[in-house]
Amino acid sequence: MVMMVTTETIMTTDTTPRKLKPSTLMMGLGYDPKLSEGALKPPIFLTSTFAFPSAADGKRHFEGITGKRPGGSDGLVYSRFNGPNQQILEERLAVWDGAEESLVFSSGMSAIATLLLAQCSQGDVIVHSGPLYAATEGFIARTLSRFGIGYVDFPAGADQPEIEAALAKGKALAAAQGGKLAMIYLESPANPTNALVDVEAVAAARDALGSSDVPIAIDNTFLGPLWQQPLYHGADIVVYSLTKYAGGHSDLVAGGLSGAKRWMDPIRMLRNTMGTILDPNTSWMLLRSLETVELRMTRSGENAAKVCAYLKAHPKVERLGYLGDISDPRQQDIFNRHCSGAGSTFSVFIKGGEAESFAFLDALRIAKLAVSLGGTETLASHPAAMTHLSVPDERKALLGITDNLVRISVGIEDADDLIADFEQALEQV
Ligand SMILES: *Cc1c(COP(=O)(O)O)cnc(C)c1O
Repeated sequence: MVMMVTTETIMTTDTTPRKLKPSTLMMGLGYDPKLSEGALKPPIFLTSTFAFPSAADGKRHFEGITGKRPGGSDGLVYSRFNGPNQQILEERLAVWDGAEESLVFSSGMSAIATLLLAQCSQGDVIVHSGPLYAATEGFIARTLSRFGIGYVDFPAGADQPEIEAALAKGKALAAAQGGKLAMIYLESPANPTNALVDVEAVAAARDALGSSDVPIAIDNTFLGPLWQQPLYHGADIVVYSLTKYAGGHSDLVAGGLSGAKRWMDPIRMLRNTMGTILDPNTSWMLLRSLETVELRMTRSGENAAKVCAYLKAHPKVERLGYLGDISDPRQQDIFNRHCSGAGSTFSVFIKGGEAESFAFLDALRIAKLAVSLGGTETLASHPAAMTHLSVPDERKALLGITDNLVRISVGIEDADDLIADFEQALEQV
């Protein structure tokens, strides 16, 4: 890769290589100031195309782009395929999950759509955990189904026998449709219930059915990249809406995929064709965001713990859906094996129903009433009336999306100020 000079290790005085931590690598990996007039930070490369040093170089680069030589281009060609800002970002994003490679996209949804289209053919079946992000569920159920791609789902908290049953059902459906089990797609924790998927059990179930070649993808937007690294627990591809914690300032939309090169290669080919790559400007903004992602997530996680301790004890609060306060022993066991932090996005069940929840939301002064999560500012929303409004009532009941559920994403403000805000808003209920 053209820009890769700064490496992941340094030599210490006793000459043993020291593997650097992600928080260190976010400031330098993949960018050499010497190549850009000494600019400490990478310039934004606003160009649609790149000049080849020679015709032979142009041919070699196109062999990489078209897949004649697998693995993508080793040089810059045209901005629908690659660019310096995107390449630096991809190198840095991969670090967090210990992935061989990453690819960045114009949104979380364009990453997910490109992933599923690259992996599935007519007749194939996707087995997925439920619930998924609504647009992901819609893309599978309403768009991919138009191309003869089927799906089977299982509940997020399922144990290995339940997962095996869903996979067997998926394989049978695929056989009947003349396709194959093409992908296992997970999202953990699930939104808005925070139910965790046992990734290790999913991998064990897949292997027990002799389907080890079927990739497991997992949407890690809610806990990644800091608090959960699913590639270490048996997943093959990690999916991000970088719009959330990675971007972290509620000022951009982007997506990412990380995993082994063998999975990324066909996805990159389709991204080249469709042009779902992220633009240079947003890539640059994400480079800035990744420099502080550990700081921001750590602070918001600490804030959430303090806010939840306060809310849990409040007489107008029925209970919390917070990973720092799990009541189910199996969910706690998954948490202990898969997660290093409880996150900062959780549910509060207000005593009462929609009216009480709306009164609480309308009274908030610091927290803003908006969907999305993972930003520097605290956001609050009402899933039943907003993000999940179109979900049928029976499915809402099944998923535990009740009228008294308020969703909160805690930011990096002062924790005591936030508690004061929640206190005065609960008084209005
Ligand atoms: C927001 C979100 C997405 C979609 O990402 P966009 O960047 O909005 O396209 C996918 N999955 C989860 C879990 C999300 O929260």
